[in-house]
Amino acid sequence: MNEKILVVEDERDIARMVEYNLKKEGYRPLVLHDGSFAAATAAKERPALILLDLMLPGLDGLEVCRRLKADTKTAAIPIIMLTAKGEESDKVLGLGLGADDYVTKPFSLKELLARVQAVLRRSAAAPAPAPEKLSAGDIELDAAKVTVKLKGAPLELTSKEFELLKALMAGGERVLTREELLEKAWGMDASLELETRTVDVHVGTLRRKLKKEGRRIVTVKNYGYRFEGGR
Ligand code: CA
Repeated sequence: MNEKILVVEDERDIARMVEYNLKKEGYRPLVLHDGSFAAATAAKERPALILLDLMLPGLDGLEVCRRLKADTKTAAIPIIMLTAKGEESDKVLGLGLGADDYVTKPFSLKELLARVQAVLRRSAAAPAPAPEKLSAGDIELDAAKVTVKLKGAPLELTSKEFELLKALMAGGERVLTREELLEKAWGMDASLELETRTVDVHVGTLRRKLKKEGRRIVTVKNYGYRFEGGR
């Protein structure tokens, strides 16, 4: 619940009705009446779902769809097309471009909301993004296999140490605050209950296990940590 949904629809009445009902269901709709900035808005706002009308001023829905799927920031966001009768070929094209579903106008709100729920459920259950392998110096981390090797030999890490190392390496030299690291390794809510000092303790053990390579984890005073040679 509370998912952000981008609605791109130029027919004001439909847009208003959809917006109202999405709000009522507890979603956070964001409405655009024009296709021009739809892809850019999606990249910035990262909605959980996009309801995309096909016949739009500015940029038509198919082109918007194409752009969304071509941008890694938005490619994974599910799209439901809103099509009018007689737009059969567009519908097929849209699905070919990677749209997840479509509803034909005039649609009932019940039907639309059911589709919204189904697509959101599917995307929540979808597997995590492609496996990622990170390496720096003698360290090789495989995010998919959840393994770390040091000089080619398997390295035993606790799950927290593993998550911390992954976050640091993926950070690519960016300084990560203790709060950010808590959030990444312990989960969203943990940051409220755990003390940030917990991070320091785990970074300490992680550094020891990484031996010489532990020096890559650099303490940034009063701020957090940075991984040298990341990405
Ligand atoms: Ca339209």
